[in-house]
Amino acid sequence: MSLIVQKYGGSSVADAECMKRVAQRVLDTQKAGNSVVVVVSAMGDTTDDLIDLAKKINPQPDDRELDALMATGEQISCAVLAMALHAEGAQAVSMTGPQAGIFVDEVHTKAKIMTIKPARVFKQLKKGNIVIVAGFQGLNPNQDIATLGRGGSDTTAVALAAALKADRCQILKDVEGVYTANPRVVPEARKLDEIAYDEMLELASMGAEVLQSRAVEFAKKYGVELEVLSSFTNKPGTVVREEVKKMEDIVVRGVAADKKQAKVTIMQVPDQPGVAANLFKQLAAAHINVDMIVQNVSEQAHTDISFTAPVDDLAKAKNVVEPLLKKIGAKGVNYDNDIAKISIVGVGMKSHSGVAYRMFEALAANKINIEMISTSEIKISVVIRGKQADKAVQVLHKAFELGKKSKKK
Ligand code: ASP
Ligand code: MG
Repeated sequence: MSLIVQKYGGSSVADAECMKRVAQRVLDTQKAGNSVVVVVSAMGDTTDDLIDLAKKINPQPDDRELDALMATGEQISCAVLAMALHAEGAQAVSMTGPQAGIFVDEVHTKAKIMTIKPARVFKQLKKGNIVIVAGFQGLNPNQDIATLGRGGSDTTAVALAAALKADRCQILKDVEGVYTANPRVVPEARKLDEIAYDEMLELASMGAEVLQSRAVEFAKKYGVELEVLSSFTNKPGTVVREEVKKMEDIVVRGVAADKKQAKVTIMQVPDQPGVAANLFKQLAAAHINVDMIVQNVSEQAHTDISFTAPVDDLAKAKNVVEPLLKKIGAKGVNYDNDIAKISIVGVGMKSHSGVAYRMFEALAANKINIEMISTSEIKISVVIRGKQADKAVQVLHKAFELGKKSKKK
């Protein structure tokens, strides 16, 4: 008998009908001879609605209370799915993250899973139950409930699969898998049969909203093979797994756009040791995920420093930066949230040259100006104007011929 962890996203459990359909699918999986653990997201747009509610009350709600509020979304889902399974005559039990033994660190709204003690889950599986666990949450060292960051149910599923030593972890969504680009932006985008952990990691953190990047990190660390597939069809999805040599045949696997970043530029700071250290130390202390950093050439002993961070962290970043300006002797600061970060990703970049040049040329030919650049071994990212994001993705998808099935070299 195999143990399967299945995770259903928000749109797959959006209403009562969806819940019944998911219950049927879970039951079919069990009837095929498997033990099943299900992780669920909040129904539909529940999390967004809860955040809107909180912000109507207080534009900067207390993080502990925001977590207490957001965690209810997944708790509703798991209880409702248990009821739907009972209605089918199945044995099922729902659990919150804390009940399932998921322990997290103390960083509210983006907590990390520290350990999982799945004894209770195992006990219920042994009794023949389908176990349904609320995604996106765990118990922190203060015995408070904390959430794992947007999209965190993916991470719950992968971490549980690792802790339970599950045979398979399936992420069921309203799309059929991982695509070469967002199909809503690029109609020729192709579903990938497989993708390496590192590629998925880059795409996930670069704005492809298929999987939470933390989930991919976890999968890579513990060797959990993931399948991303549709909960609405029975077609095979995309398998995310360890890189094999032949994956390098393809230079670029996919293109992603992240429109949820903002750029902060601190102008005319003294060009001397310690300035950057001071700034980024304080940003780190405020748990702001700084992504790209660019420092310009120094002119008359002064320089500009720009960095990007998630738009959602902009208010917190302002709180850190403003009081620092005077202290570090900066002339001013500029905030820009009308940017997009466009990335091309592929393990094949390790063994092919001229990729950056092809990317920049394609953008230039379409009058798309590049404001920032950063690279890694398997990724090139650029920051451009936000309104050009879709165009840039389309142009790059075409330039690297991602719509065509790969020709083996
Ligand atoms: N409900 C949370 C969100 O919308 C977590 C999740 O769906 O994975 O971000
Ligand atoms: Mg959701």
